[in-house]
Parts: sequence; C-alpha cells; structure tokens
Amino acid sequence: MSIPIYTYDAVIVGSGLAGSAAARELKQAGKNVAVITKLHPLRSHSGAAQGGINAALSDVDSIELHEFDTVKGADYLADQDAVELMCQKAPETIRWAERMGAAFSRTDDGKIAQRPFGGQSSPRACFAKDRTGLTLLQTIYEQALRVGVDFIDEWYAADIIYEDGKVSGVVAFNIRNQEKAIFNAKAVMFATGGYARAFKISSNAHANTGDGLSIVARHGLPLEDMEFVQFHPSGLSGSGILISEAARGEGGKLLNSEGERFMERYAPNKLELASRDVVARAIINEIREGRGVGPRKDAVYIDLTHLGKEKIMERLPELRDLAITFLGLDMIKEPILISATAHYSMGGIPVDIDGHVRKNNDALVEGFYAAGECACVSVHGANRLGANSVLEALLFGRHVGQSMVNDIETLYLREAEQSDADTMIAEMERILTNNGKETVPGLRNELQQSMTDNAGVFRTEETLSKQVEIVKELRKRFENIRIDDKSKIFNTDLQEAIELGHMLDYALFIVESALARKESRGAHYREDFTTRDDEAFMKHTMAYMDANGEISLDYMAVTPGKFEPQERTY
Ligand SMILES: Cc1cc2nc3c(=O)[nH]c(=O)nc-3n(C[C@H](O)[C@H](O)[C@H](O)COP(=O)(O)OP(=O)(O)OC[C@H]3O[C@@H](n4cnc5c(N)ncnc54)[C@H](O)[C@@H]3O)c2cc1C
Repeated sequence: MSIPIYTYDAVIVGSGLAGSAAARELKQAGKNVAVITKLHPLRSHSGAAQGGINAALSDVDSIELHEFDTVKGADYLADQDAVELMCQKAPETIRWAERMGAAFSRTDDGKIAQRPFGGQSSPRACFAKDRTGLTLLQTIYEQALRVGVDFIDEWYAADIIYEDGKVSGVVAFNIRNQEKAIFNAKAVMFATGGYARAFKISSNAHANTGDGLSIVARHGLPLEDMEFVQFHPSGLSGSGILISEAARGEGGKLLNSEGERFMERYAPNKLELASRDVVARAIINEIREGRGVGPRKDAVYIDLTHLGKEKIMERLPELRDLAITFLGLDMIKEPILISATAHYSMGGIPVDIDGHVRKNNDALVEGFYAAGECACVSVHGANRLGANSVLEALLFGRHVGQSMVNDIETLYLREAEQSDADTMIAEMERILTNNGKETVPGLRNELQQSMTDNAGVFRTEETLSKQVEIVKELRKRFENIRIDDKSKIFNTDLQEAIELGHMLDYALFIVESALARKESRGAHYREDFTTRDDEAFMKHTMAYMDANGEISLDYMAVTPGKFEPQERTY
C-alpha cells in the first residue's frame, strides 16, 4: 500500500515554544506550514518551565550585563555573536509575548516583576508566578492556532529525507494507529527539545528522549558539545523533579546535616545564587563528605520557611504542591530535601546564528533548520544560566522561523518518493517482529542509572571509559529486544523502543565527547583535570557517527566577542 505524501512549504517537528513560535512566523508570512508533534502541543516540555525568562528591562540592569553574565556563565564557550543577538532582542521578545497575551506577574507599581536567578548581576527573570513556561506556551500555541498553523498531534517523526546535502521532508507515523506518511517540504525545522532523560535522576519529562539528535546523527551529520549536560542543584530527593531556581531566587537557603549554610564556603559572594554547576557540585560534595541529610543521607535541605506563607503562596505555589505530593513535606512549615538532577542539554544539533543546520565546520545543510533546546547555536556554551533557555526557545524559534520565511523562495522542492519511508518502516518492522530476550524498560534503566553514576556531576577518565563500554554493550543488547504489544493501536511499547534506540545513540556522543575533553569547564567537571584549559579546549566538540555506529571527534572554533576569557568565580 502506498504511503501518502503531503506537501508543505515548511514542516516543523516539535510544538514547544521554539516550534510553535517558528510556525506562527511562517504562517503569518503566508507560508503553508505543518507542525508534527508526538505530544499534544500543550504537553510539550516548555510548559514545565517554572521560574522565568530573562530580559534586561529594569534601570539597574543592562543588555551588556546580560551578555556578560551569559558568557561568564557559559565558562566562555558560548558564541558571542549569538549571545549578543539573544540579549539584545530579549526585551522586545518579552514585550511581544505580552502583546500576544502572556500575563506576567507584576510589581506594585504595575511593571513586569523580575526575580534574581543564579549567576546574574541583577534581578532579570520575568515570570508568571512559577508557571512561566505554561503561560507562554498557552499564549504562543493559541496565537499559532489563530493564524491557522496545521498542528499534527500525536504523530512520531522517525526520519528526515536527506540527500545530496539537502533535507526535503520528514517521515512519520501516527501514534494512534501506525498510519505512515511522508511530509515533503522545501524547509524542515527540528525543535524536538532536550536529552536529559538519558540520566536516571532527571527533571525532564519522559518524552525528552532527544529523538531529533539521533535522527540527525544517523545521517552522518554532527552533534555539537554533547558532553555539556546541566545538572540542576535542586531536584526533589529521589526523583529529581525540579524545584526551580526561583526557590533560591526568592531567598531559599541550602543547609547540610550540621545546619551549616555551606554555600558560604563554595561561593562567598553569590551563595545559593552562584551558577548552577557550582551549586550542584557543592551539594554533591557535601553529600560525599558525609554531611548529607534524609533517610539515605543523599540530599541537602533547602529552607524557605523564613519567606512565610503569603510569599510562598504568591510566588511558589506549584513548587510547594510538588514537594507535598512527592515528599510529603510542606515548605511553608519545614525545609525540603533536594539534590542535583540532570536538567538541560547545552549541546545539540549545530546551527549558525540564523538556525541553518551545519553539515560540518564549513558547510550548511540546505533546507534544514533547528532551534530551542535540541539546537546548539551556542548561547549557553558549557553552562546555561537559569531563565535563558525559555528565552532562547522563544526568541530563536521566532528568529529561525523568520529566516525560513526569507529562504523559502530560493529553496526548491525535491519531490518525495515512496522509498524515502524505507528506513522508518524497516525500523518499525524490526522492533515489532523481533523476539529477543531484552526488554525496553530493563535496558533503559541500565542506561539511565549508569549515565547518572559514570557521566554525572563528577566525571573521570575511568568512569567515562567504563561508560563508553557500557553504552556500546547496551546498544548490542538492544538488537536483541522484544516488545510484548504487537498491536497497531496506541502501541507505546513500539514508540518507547524507538526512543530507547535514540537515547543509546546520543548517550555515546555524550560520553565519547566527555572522555576526550580533558579539562573542567562549566557543567563538565573532570576530577582528573580540575581546571579549565583554554589553550587546548577553548573549542566546540563536533562529533560524528559512522555507519557502524562508531563516533569520531572534530572541533570547531568558538566565536569570540567583546568579553575576554577570565577566571570564573562567584
Ligand atoms: C522542570 C523544568 C523547568 C524549567 N524551567 C525553566 C525556566 O524557568 N526558565 C528557563 O529559561 N528554562 C527552563 N527550563 C528549560 C526550558 O523549559 C526548555 O529548555 C525549553 O522550554 C525547551 O523548549 P523547546 O521548544 O526547545 O522544546 P520542548 O518544549 O521540550 O518541545 C519539544 C517538542 O518536540 C516534540 N518531539 C520530540 N521528539 C519528537 C518526535 N520524534 N516526533 C514528533 N515530535 C517530537 C515534542 O512533542 C515537543 O512538542 C526548564 C526545564 C525543566 C525540565
């Protein structure tokens, strides 16, 4: 039976802030655009963003300070042209979002309220209570619907059509019934979100399986800076569910088993509001040295009781609910238990400042774009500052959407063929008919636990080499999987197996890139190379996978700018 081919000017995969914002720009400019998403758009992970979105709006702040904080936070690995673009356009982005209907929290005199976040010189995070992402996502989705964007919900994008350096479509199946289709387009954009689900303790939703990255990598295209995974300091103990930096921004204090406010020793100036990598390492260090709290002594306290009920209910109501639901602890009355959790993907699909995907250091892929957390533009370098990623997703989503509008007239449409779906069909068939002895939950659990143990907050040559071998072995065992559900209707076993295949592929990029980076920079901390080495490693990692699944590494220059690298202290 032939597979239907649908033709659009542009097809976007992902309906979070980046994908939805880009789609709106394209449709507004009269382009025929479809958004394919494996989730309902409002269930995209952007909706989970709690704390805020940065912009230098106030008199005590400036765009230059925002740029400096971002570059310093990034441990000088960010590309400064992209940082400049983001910080300069941030105030306009907030005003635009507000005009679109986003209701931000206000000060008593009616201005948009801003709260302090880690590593920032000034209170800069605009917020809607602690539901910032949901407010923004609802607004942008509604606006995209209003202009007539075609959202194709609960379809799983499994492959791109890539030939002769050009992408000309997406191959996907309907999760409801496995109906297959080819979406042929002049321009394709990936906005598929982050990859921190490769770790056991993670703040990310189960859907954050980094599919987009492996789909791209399987075509021999590079992934950039994959070793840089952010570990957020405050995940609820045991699960890693996020307690936003807003909790520290509003005045939360971190305490160890001795009742000591230990950040005084690690970051005497910024204390709990040092950058995330610094605070996460301090927490794990306290636990390792026996000053942890909780039944397993594997957490520290965050104490918010001094803020009082009124402020907590006004500013942090969702966080309070989360701690009550998952730990049975009420932050109004008592400190709650937290520890570091895998949170954000600084690495991703390499793109230039206008979102064109890179084929290598010198060439771009025609008709292919990426934005949001799956992309590496790179504004976050080695460590992202809190409240800069919702900004990146929204701002670069719009910007890349505009860049696609500009390019589309010059892009030609390569007509899709039935054989373009062969790879996806073969993958689905293999998983459905395989009768091996390995299970998806079993392998996924081994991958996630070993990634947390060996490629987490602290890394060494020994743990990373071990993890390379573990991932390679898990990939071999993946060939031998079996799923029990062979049906066509909402076969989530099939989807989870495909997702696991993606996780195994990009996990190897993370550990191989981390093993080769023999320095400590931002979120990548090597206990055997504890300092930053600008001479050898002031460069982006560009990793490629060959047809046998082997990874090779190359490097790309960092775009410098007005801020010279300095020692990073807080
Ligand atoms: C708990 C939490 C709180 C956060 N709080 C903040 C904050 O306060 N401030 C801040 O700046 N940042 C925050 N972040 C980070 C920020 O929310 C994300 O980086 C950002 O929202 C990512 O947006 P995105 O559009 O790139 O991707 P997402 O919103 O993750 O969307 C990804 C989309 O891709 C789709 N998709 C993926 N794979 C496929 C596939 N194979 N086929 C079809 N569709 C697919 C999904 O359906 C989804 O629509 C937080 C992150 C977490 C985890």
